[in-house]
Amino acid sequence: MNTSNRSAHGSVRAALLGSLLGACLAAPLTLQASPYDNLPDMGEAIDRDITVAEELAMGEGFMHALKRQAIFVDHPLLNHYIQSLGERLAGASGWNAYPFHFTVIRDDQVNAFAAPGGHISLFSGLILRTDNENELAGVMAHEMAHVTQRHIARMIAGSSMMSLTALAALAAAALVGGSNPQAAAAAVNLGIAGAIQQQINFTRDHEYEADRIGIQILSGASFDPQGMVSFFEKLSRQEGDGFYVHNELLRTHPVTTHRIAEASSRAREARPSKVFNQTDYAYAKATLAALLEPQPLASATHIDKAHPSHATRYQEALLLARGGRHKDAVAMLEGLLKANSDNPWIATALADSYRQIREDDKAQALLQNQLALFPGHPVITIELGQLMMANRPEQAYRLLRDAVRDHPQDSAILGAFAETAARAGRPAEHHEAMGLFFIQERRLPEARAELETARAYSAGNAIARQRLAAMIENVETEIIEARRRTQEGF
Ligand SMILES: [Zn+2]
Repeated sequence: MNTSNRSAHGSVRAALLGSLLGACLAAPLTLQASPYDNLPDMGEAIDRDITVAEELAMGEGFMHALKRQAIFVDHPLLNHYIQSLGERLAGASGWNAYPFHFTVIRDDQVNAFAAPGGHISLFSGLILRTDNENELAGVMAHEMAHVTQRHIARMIAGSSMMSLTALAALAAAALVGGSNPQAAAAAVNLGIAGAIQQQINFTRDHEYEADRIGIQILSGASFDPQGMVSFFEKLSRQEGDGFYVHNELLRTHPVTTHRIAEASSRAREARPSKVFNQTDYAYAKATLAALLEPQPLASATHIDKAHPSHATRYQEALLLARGGRHKDAVAMLEGLLKANSDNPWIATALADSYRQIREDDKAQALLQNQLALFPGHPVITIELGQLMMANRPEQAYRLLRDAVRDHPQDSAILGAFAETAARAGRPAEHHEAMGLFFIQERRLPEARAELETARAYSAGNAIARQRLAAMIENVETEIIEARRRTQEGF
């Protein structure tokens, strides 16, 4: 890979790092006066596989840097859907080295990537151009296969030199937070640089393997693997016109006729007998389309009025709500809920619109009813807790405390619980929950500060003090480890 350019400075290094991260973002970036010149230059080649711990540290640092850019779609139910879909696939992958994390990037490109450490990002443009859940799951399974087959890790290990050490330094710098904000910013720009430099990510062998393993994952999770084949085929057919020119997904995962034929025959053999209903998929797509529409009110009037499906009418209601016409949205959503009483997409959208027109009691009754239908549903729980916080802080606190017990690593639940604990006048629990929240978000210095405050509030509680002391020690060990990586490379 690029050995002839190895002596070149700045932009080549940037491109290498970017392609190693597998990240291809859309924003334009000029490479002059790049921040990469500030990176430590650490000479020797790495001739061993990187460890899982190293890969995780890189992935965390990278995602942490991306999160600061606020490029992710922020819709709790949509995120929950994508994560659940991914977990269903992960369950059939046989992979247990670390969990997968799925995010949606607000960008109209047809693209997806797997960053080190099992972080898979799907671009909104890709999701909106899938025609069914099998296609969406197909792209996800293919990306997951690049992770389970250690393609990304091997690519990092097999590449020359500074890429690994500099990446590690970037990741560690982002992880310890604040100690080197330039490095964190560079980690993001490196991904953009990767797209500009047009570095091929995966080899042909990698692609065949990811297809083969992806098909196994899909059929193991009862998806039709033909979805993966048809999506890549659709992309390659349309290469050259409109949306698909310079398609990043095709560039990083080159499609050949032979690859399609082989995957297609494998997919036919692996087709599962049962088919899941695709209601959530339809509503997820409708949500995303409504969320990203630049002119919500104008486009609401263009919705297919002749033969609207329920998901289409839901999309129209979301557009009306986004345009401020909450009463109209409520009327539509109430009608839809009558016909779909157990649909959390409609219910949470209606609860939001109730709150907008100050009908909090109706919103609360609705969410309580939904929670009875979907016990422990994390998104409904958080929304109900936030709604009850003002008037019934103790009730909200108990609801979220139970949710934390069921989902101890869900940072959204931890954050909401921390808020209710504060409202319910429980500062020790508030700060402990904030500490746990920051641990999940890998913001370690902030985690340590919160846990220390929690310990200060727990003067009379020996058990809590002991628990907090152990947590603080763990966080300190991780901070020291991350600093060591910053200074030495791996
Ligand atoms: Zn691929």
